[in-house]
Amino acid sequence: MHYETITPMDDAWQAQALCAETGADFFFPEPGSSVREAKRICGMCEMRPACLEYALSNDERFGVWGGLSEKERLQLRRTSHTSH
Ligand code: SF4
Repeated sequence: MHYETITPMDDAWQAQALCAETGADFFFPEPGSSVREAKRICGMCEMRPACLEYALSNDERFGVWGGLSEKERLQLRRTSHTSH
């Protein structure tokens, strides 16, 4: 049986992602190294909301997504779980 997990709408944003042009190295830095440059690029990316949502819903643990580092996403997830 075939399950479609990603609809065409879901990954449409990836075609316009700024990081697709800059290469993945910025977005998956070595542990402990700076993510500042990746965040700067995310800051100019129009796909940021879709990207962040994708990362959160797919439980992406590594690298910078939607302008947030893995730690920041974890924090965001914790606060959104405890805020009700
Ligand atoms: S927000 Fe950042 S990580 Fe996400 S698509 Fe844009 S440049 Fe890439």
